[in-house]
Amino acid sequence: MNDNQLLRYSRHILLPQISFEGQQKLAHSHALIVGAGGLGSPVALYLGAGGVGKLTICDYDNVHLTNLQRQVIHNTAAIGTNKAVSAQQTLQAINPEITVIPVPRKSTVEEFAKLASSADVVVDCSDNFSTRYALNQVCVQLKKPLVSGAAIGFEGQVTVFDLRHNDSPCYHCLFPDMDADDEMRCAENGVFAPLVGMIGTTQAAEAMKLLLGVGESLQGRLLLLDAMAMEWRSIKLNRDPACTVCGTAA
Ligand SMILES: [Zn+2]
Repeated sequence: MNDNQLLRYSRHILLPQISFEGQQKLAHSHALIVGAGGLGSPVALYLGAGGVGKLTICDYDNVHLTNLQRQVIHNTAAIGTNKAVSAQQTLQAINPEITVIPVPRKSTVEEFAKLASSADVVVDCSDNFSTRYALNQVCVQLKKPLVSGAAIGFEGQVTVFDLRHNDSPCYHCLFPDMDADDEMRCAENGVFAPLVGMIGTTQAAEAMKLLLGVGESLQGRLLLLDAMAMEWRSIKLNRDPACTVCGTAA
């Protein structure tokens, strides 16, 4: 690390849980972030500012005026620009030390598998069940840690499926049969702007801890946030042995 890097990351390096070694670990890490919307914005901003060396960001959508109330990595001048490209532009202005690779198209399961194979952590910031199931399938197959988040209205949830561990549940164990109808209901609802920040920054913290190998992850625990009552609840998650994705039936 050069002098500027030591200064940029000094408040991390001062933490004994991270220190110089941890910061170097982050610099050599690669996170795959799927979705550059409400959740993907804080995830990419904190992982990028915090010094994760390589970020691959997937999003096929363009920035719309209706996004700017909560998708804080994009600005008004970016309206009409692809979200992965807009996120890259913001991140490079904040931290030119890192590499950001935008994937500005709808990825297939095969492409997700290719992208995830070189990633150390996968962060699911998508807003649809087909992408969530695809990422889960890929992470189960490749044994990659998956940080999952969702937010709607005033309620959000976040957990970690650390599929490097055989006892970890997967997304499909938790939600075995969500369909397109559930998705439509989500798309029609509003979302409280700070909620996506709270869930997204929690995802960023979990992803960074996994990359550093410190602390206790959310594996086996689903955190549920009710932002109106400002209450977090924790539910224990178990692996489903009959799961068709990660279980013996697979
Ligand atoms: Zn499963």
